[in-house]
Amino acid sequence: MEHKNAWLTYDEAALTALENVSARYKAFLDAGKTERECVKETIRLAEMKGYKNLQDKIDNAEEIKAGDKLYHQVMGKAIMLFIIGKAPMEKGINILGAHIDSPRMDVKQNPLSEEAGFAYFDTHYYGGIKKYQWVAMPLALHGVVCKRDGSMIDVNIGEKDEDPVFCVSDILPHLGADQMGKKLSEAITGEMLDVIIAGKPVKDEDKESVKDGVLKILKDQYGIDEEDFLSAEIEVVPAGKCRDMGFDRSMLIGYGHDDRVCAYAQLEALFDIDETPEKTVACILADKEEIGSVGATGMQATYFENALAEMMALHGEEGDLKLRRALTKSKMLSCDVSAGFDPNFAGAFEKKNSAFLGNGVCFNKFTGSRGKSGSNDANAEFLAQVFGVMDKGGVSFQTAELGKVDQGGGGTIAYICALYGMEVVDSGVAVLSMHAPWEVISKADLYEAYKGYKAFVLGV
Ligand code: MN
Ligand code: MN
Repeated sequence: MEHKNAWLTYDEAALTALENVSARYKAFLDAGKTERECVKETIRLAEMKGYKNLQDKIDNAEEIKAGDKLYHQVMGKAIMLFIIGKAPMEKGINILGAHIDSPRMDVKQNPLSEEAGFAYFDTHYYGGIKKYQWVAMPLALHGVVCKRDGSMIDVNIGEKDEDPVFCVSDILPHLGADQMGKKLSEAITGEMLDVIIAGKPVKDEDKESVKDGVLKILKDQYGIDEEDFLSAEIEVVPAGKCRDMGFDRSMLIGYGHDDRVCAYAQLEALFDIDETPEKTVACILADKEEIGSVGATGMQATYFENALAEMMALHGEEGDLKLRRALTKSKMLSCDVSAGFDPNFAGAFEKKNSAFLGNGVCFNKFTGSRGKSGSNDANAEFLAQVFGVMDKGGVSFQTAELGKVDQGGGGTIAYICALYGMEVVDSGVAVLSMHAPWEVISKADLYEAYKGYKAFVLGV
């Protein structure tokens, strides 16, 4: 089958719409460099669009009716949006699900050290990173410090022009003989990912210390004591904004396209729905996908079915059996990024089953590895239905596998939601340099994802 490039299908109006979606996505990505920041930004955008907090409805036992727009956040790290449809939820709902956590380096609980005139934050990386990619580049700190008095300090240092940034060092090539002889996976190790945070000693009585200087700055400027790191979540991420890439500005280079590009395409789809849909529409933005969807904010937790149960009760559809029917009869796009074909690494791909940047939203019947192990293998009947909806909506789409057979693989949240018995297929945006500090996507694929997700929730 021939691959059709989405760019060639656009008229002036479509190009303008595409650029507008891209500009809003760039702003979302710059505002959301952690899962917590993504949840905050999602709530801000949703409230502007008239979404109300489901928790208030639950607390006040307030009735929910068709056309209501609701959001429900989980521990500040995951969030769901809903548009209540005309049909009972028991008949099934249409779901979009993505994740908002991205690979990074997390600051350890006991992070501070000093060596040879430098003060360091020790880190433990999060998700699948190639460690050698995270050195010798400007880094920013994002997160929260929770104090024992119940207060919380937001940390966001390194994004404004006047902010300082941070860095993990690398050895100069002149002295790199030992390192250059190693395998890439061993050239920079996990414990070498120590972030330089200061380099100026202060004198205190008879002792000189860079660490003491940092502690004084942390106390004076941020109100943070060394003890407070025990109850902090600080993520080290690449400093800087998402930028247009290429002379033709057709691409975006940014941190965390995996999977915030799909998360944002879902939000664009929901925010673009004005009419009351036939079926209830849900948008899930989950945490912890990059480490196995674990924990209370990962997709394996029960927050989605709990939220659905609460809504159904407030919608006059209370009861376990009705909830089970709703889940089983639901249809879902698990919206996560796919590996974009890279001519530099053509050997890792099987070309006719690869995702190409610019060829539209990508469907993966399965992910997994070594004989589809660990994948949700979507049903052919459902695929045909979804592709029909895409055709009807004028959506450019492609299908792909995650690289050559036995080359590697990966997973998404699809298999977890499929456990309810609902139809689920993976669908997302092709990414170059996935999990690198700076990942690349095509604006066309973001635009087609938004179109495809909207067509799905209204048309499936
Ligand atoms: Mn992902
Ligand atoms: Mn990933």
